[in-house]
Amino acid sequence: MFPKNESLARNELYEICRLAYARGYLCGTEGNLSIRLDSNSLLSTPSNTCKGMIKQDDFILTDLEGHLLKSNLSSAARKPSTELKMHLLAYEMRSDICAIVHAHPTVTVALTVAGKSLSSPILPEVVCTLGSIPVASYATPGTEEVPESLRPFLSNYDAIVLDHHGALTLGTSINDAFYKLEMLEHHAQTLFIAELLGGAIPLAPEQINKLLGIRAIYGLTRPIQIH
Ligand SMILES: [Zn+2]
Repeated sequence: MFPKNESLARNELYEICRLAYARGYLCGTEGNLSIRLDSNSLLSTPSNTCKGMIKQDDFILTDLEGHLLKSNLSSAARKPSTELKMHLLAYEMRSDICAIVHAHPTVTVALTVAGKSLSSPILPEVVCTLGSIPVASYATPGTEEVPESLRPFLSNYDAIVLDHHGALTLGTSINDAFYKLEMLEHHAQTLFIAELLGGAIPLAPEQINKLLGIRAIYGLTRPIQIH
């Protein structure tokens, strides 16, 4: 997967930032996205920047410990996000991923605010791609509590929900991480509407087993957790 061309990565990150904002997954200056370029450098969105108005030159380059390597344009104002800590831990724990999206998708977060689980296996695509979706314990945003709340899940899940906060999705590319975010929010919306209609009926164990049996056909070989 490595190394990744920085200029190409800037374009890809730009496209997904704009798309994520347009889809309503990020509000104001919230959220942060990153691409790992090689074993020692990371391209990410800077703090306090609206992803709907961001430009390719705004992204900053840090090492895998979060130290600033390069920042273009008004560099004095360009600092790593306080939420970069969770990206750093995820890259440290997962050598197989190259990109991360952290966003605040409304229905996903609303379900945690209401104390609802998101793990019900209701959609075949979600079962095949993400498996069960865990909710990490509430943590104060911007602090070390956030990566620590995610630590129990990072090895085994590509989509993790942060209680009363947002979502973190991991991918082999920034597009892959974004598609997982989109899939997660679609799952949350479907679950929410099904509950309004009288209650979600999960897929039966034999239906889930069949889905797990066909994952390889779609190139899905990474083990997933179903519970
Ligand atoms: Zn956040």
